[in-house]
Amino acid sequence: MRYEEKILEIINASNEHLTAEQLFFKLKQMYPRVVLATVYNNLGNLHKTGKIRKISLEGCPDRFDKTVKHDHLVCRECGAISDVFLSDITEDIEKQTGIIIDSYDLKISYICPECKKQAQ
Ligand SMILES: [Zn+2]
Ligand SMILES: [Zn+2]
Repeated sequence: MRYEEKILEIINASNEHLTAEQLFFKLKQMYPRVVLATVYNNLGNLHKTGKIRKISLEGCPDRFDKTVKHDHLVCRECGAISDVFLSDITEDIEKQTGIIIDSYDLKISYICPECKKQAQ
């Protein structure tokens, strides 16, 4: 339980979209005895109970994020993720489709400044 709370705390305090392994290394600095499997288990629970958000991108390990409503800019070269706060389009979707949706996950593709620099 202690780990679960700590993991949630780290995710909520971070803008980095951490992978399980990155979370593991952060946790290990505080609790040297923690093992990676524990981190995976706790992340699974936190995700199942809706306390964290999971970002899955093709070819990248899953990353974890806070649940506060926001969307993502995703670099199509390196997979870097940054947060973008847009107005909620739930109502628009529901009006147009006539169905009640659960949630939506907007990923906006772009090329990040780093990759742009490298391409030059
Ligand atoms: Zn990039
Ligand atoms: Zn985010």
